[in-house]
Amino acid sequence: MSTFKDKVIIVTGASSGIGAAAAVHLASLGGLLTIVGRNVDKLKETADNILAAGGAAPLQLQADMDKEADVEQIVKATVAKHGRIDVLVNNAGILERGTIENTSLGQYDRVMNTNVRAVYQLTMLATPELVKTKGNIVNVSSVNGIRSFPGVLAYNISKAALDQFTRCVALELAAKGVRVNSVNPGVIITEIHKRGGMDEATYQQFLEHSRTTHALGRPGDVKEVATAIAFLASDAASFTTGVTL
Ligand code: NDP
Repeated sequence: MSTFKDKVIIVTGASSGIGAAAAVHLASLGGLLTIVGRNVDKLKETADNILAAGGAAPLQLQADMDKEADVEQIVKATVAKHGRIDVLVNNAGILERGTIENTSLGQYDRVMNTNVRAVYQLTMLATPELVKTKGNIVNVSSVNGIRSFPGVLAYNISKAALDQFTRCVALELAAKGVRVNSVNPGVIITEIHKRGGMDEATYQQFLEHSRTTHALGRPGDVKEVATAIAFLASDAASFTTGVTL
C-alpha cells in the first residue's frame, strides 16, 4: 500500500505500545519513519518490526522528550536525512497516579513536561517544515482529556491541555494548509498503567472494569489506535482538522 509513499513521518514514543504499533503501520503504508524513544533496545525492536512489515529502514533516534536539546535533534536529524517532514505524531506520554491530596509538584511537572511542554516544543520546531509540505499533526491524547477519571489528576489535566493545544494550533495553521488532530483512546493494553505505578492485581481489576465501561465491552489493542492515527494523517482526512477522534 502506498498511502504514505515518500512521506516523512516522525513518531515519538515509538519504542513501546501505541507509538510502536503506529510506526510499524505507517511504515507498512509507505512512510519514511523517524522513530523516537529513550530505550534504544526497544527502539531497535520497532525498527526490526518495520522491516519485517515491508517498510523502509527508519531513522532511530534516542531522545528524552524532557530535554530541550534532544527534542531539537529530532527535527534537525529528520530534515538532515530526508529534507522534509510531512507528518508529526506526538505520541510519547506518561501517566502518574495520584489525587490533589497526594500528587507532588514533582509528579505534576513530570507529567506536564512530557505530555504537554515537549509536544509544544517539538510542534513549534516542526511547524516550519510542515508548512512547507502542507503536512499534518496527530496528537495522541486520551479519553481522560475529555472526561474526568479519579486517581490520575495530573494526567487528566495534561490531556485536557493537549486537546486545547490541538484545537488552537489547528485554527492557527489551517490557512497554511496544515491539519492538526488528535486520537483520544479509552483503555488500551500497553505498559503505561504499570509504569504509572499500578500493581498487577489493580491492573487486572482496571482491565475488567474497562469491559463494563466501554460500549464494545473490552479494552482496545494498539493496532486499533494505529489505524485511527493513520486515517487522520492520511489524505482520506483532508477535510478534518481540530478534531479529537
Ligand atoms: P507506553 O508506556 O507503552 O509507551 C510510552 C512511550 O512514550 C514509550 O515509547 C516511551 O519511551 C515514551 N516516552 C515516555 N516518556 C518519554 C520521554 N521523556 N522521552 C522520550 N520518550 C518518552 O504507553 P502507551 O503506548 O499506552 O502511551 C502512548 C500514548 O498513548 C501516551 O501519550 C498515552 O497517554 C496515550 N494513551 C494511552 C492509553 C492506554 O490506555 N494505553 C489510553 C489513551 C491514551 P521509552 O520507553 O523509550 O522511554
